[in-house]
Amino acid sequence: MSLVIPELQASHADALEFLGRGDHPMLLGEQWVAARSGEWMEAVNPATGAVLGRFPNGDAADVDIAVQTARAAFEQGPWPAMTPAQRAKILWRVGELIEQHIDELSELETLDQGKPIWVGRYAEIPGAAEQFRFFAGQAQRIEGQTLPTSINYQPPGKQVFAYTLKAPVGVVAAIVPWNSPLVLTAMKLAPALAAGCCVVLKPAEDTSLTALRLGELLLEAGLPPGVVNIVTGRGDVVGAALAAHPGVDKISFTGSTQVGRSVLSAAGGNLKKVTLELGGKSPVIVMPDADMDLAIPGAANAIFFNTGQVCVAGSRLYVHRSVFDQVVNGIADIARGMKLGHGLDATTQIGPLVSRKQADRVHRYVQDALTDGAKAVVGGRQLGPNNTFIEPTVLVNVRPDMACVQEEIFGPVVVATPVDSLEEALALANDSIYGLAASIWTSDLSTAHRAAARLKSGTVWINCHLMFDASLPIGGVRQSGWGRESGQAAVDNFLELKTVCAVV
Ligand code: NAD
Repeated sequence: MSLVIPELQASHADALEFLGRGDHPMLLGEQWVAARSGEWMEAVNPATGAVLGRFPNGDAADVDIAVQTARAAFEQGPWPAMTPAQRAKILWRVGELIEQHIDELSELETLDQGKPIWVGRYAEIPGAAEQFRFFAGQAQRIEGQTLPTSINYQPPGKQVFAYTLKAPVGVVAAIVPWNSPLVLTAMKLAPALAAGCCVVLKPAEDTSLTALRLGELLLEAGLPPGVVNIVTGRGDVVGAALAAHPGVDKISFTGSTQVGRSVLSAAGGNLKKVTLELGGKSPVIVMPDADMDLAIPGAANAIFFNTGQVCVAGSRLYVHRSVFDQVVNGIADIARGMKLGHGLDATTQIGPLVSRKQADRVHRYVQDALTDGAKAVVGGRQLGPNNTFIEPTVLVNVRPDMACVQEEIFGPVVVATPVDSLEEALALANDSIYGLAASIWTSDLSTAHRAAARLKSGTVWINCHLMFDASLPIGGVRQSGWGRESGQAAVDNFLELKTVCAVV
């Protein structure tokens, strides 16, 4: 079967205007600039291979200027000294602008990343707006404490008075992956800005367009120049330079576990604070008493949403043997009916992967699994004019030690294993180096909450999967990362606690 992909164009006037510019410079202070080297990279639509425009191929020299600019904005600029209410007003306005530009941003994200348009339009871009609104509120809730002490020494007639302050950590480097570019960017910028920090943002080289457009919206919202700077380019050049730069106080990194490890060692030079949101291999457990009308489409959505390019994708399925065929065949039927296509076609359910490289990688995992004895109930083929599409795939006959069960594939591929008990399901679910998210599908309250307590994972969903909100902390245990994003506590990622102890 050949997959024909039409050459669809953006239709929103603002998206057309943005794309019509051709070159998309990066943001240093209030200047939109090319890389110092004069080199550019191409933004490519993975569905068709069409070139969407160019952005600067930055390097360490650009990073250096960006860090100095952020430092000057932090030490001398108005942002950290503004009242919380003033900062909140600007962050709220960013959220409003994102919402006003939702159709434009969704089209740009789809063209650059490949995702079905509804993923951006109804989930990720509204999610980005909500991050700014939520952290506008948090900007006004940064509080210290007064502390009762038991210090013996007190000068005659004096008292000890102690309290804590929370101060912005300083210059933050925000490094973002390509799967959900704008919302993952917002998850870093919104809390960092709420805390009063200044930022150098490095988008992924496969998806830099919406970050650059967001830069314009940030300035339009009234963010002072230099508070957010954007350096585009390769990860092993720009990202590595940021991770090692002595002028950066904090790295907020989202990406693969492998690169997270190298960011961590580079950050050791000046002992930067580090938050890591890394890979996952999230288990989905379906018990025989689950509501199958919810569980089957829910498990399918858990793996096929955003074409499987989700850090918390439900990529390992553990189903009670008594309902294994029903669940696996149900998911396979959904997969068979899914429409592969250009993300701008509103009926598309599975878009291309972000690049040929990523599609080749995913396909290799499937082929290796088949060679190793797995069976594809559905899917498994690489398709499309540029071979960037992977059919939604369900693999059975897998063993716990196989690479397709242990490693993050990051595509629309789920591996399914029958289990005989909750105990067995939990043991297999926890048999992973990762621990980002998990879901359990059951109508028994006791089973649900026992599983929630025992699953080694940063998030557990009960009778749902992929439920996100700015108020819900997300992040991993084990090699899925350090720290949490979203939720009230995410501002603390960008704050230092200062103790003040006075004799009064
Ligand atoms: P990646 O690790 O290859 O790249 C992530 C970012 O790091 C990109 O901007 C890249 O340019 C940059 N980078 C690459 N090499 C670097 C280096 N040596 N030093 C510093 N920066 C460098 O990841 P990816 O392929 O873009 O994204 C997919 C991965 O992201 C998956 O593993 C996925 O699970 C993970 N992810 C995690 C979460 C989460 O919240 N835990 C969310 C989304 C994606």
